[in-house]
Amino acid sequence: MSESIDGMDTTSKALLYLLVGIAAFFGAIILFSLGPLGWLVGGLIIVAWLVRGSSSNSDTTTPDKTNCPECGARNSTDRSDCEYCDAPLS
Ligand SMILES: [Zn+2]
Repeated sequence: MSESIDGMDTTSKALLYLLVGIAAFFGAIILFSLGPLGWLVGGLIIVAWLVRGSSSNSDTTTPDKTNCPECGARNSTDRSDCEYCDAPLS
């Protein structure tokens, strides 16, 4: 019956959440038992993770654009002169 298929899917999902939950639970206990040092390490891990995310973000936000040497406007690299002031782009 369909009930057993649904049951299997829910069980595998629940198992995954359970494993993640256990890992987070023990991680929190270990960090907590270490006291301020553990909180510092936890904070550093979070900060490192955020920094890594933001740095990869800045990589994706640099498309094929160049700044105009005259007015500083953003122009496509395939342009030979500025879109705004017609200055030649290096
Ligand atoms: Zn310009």
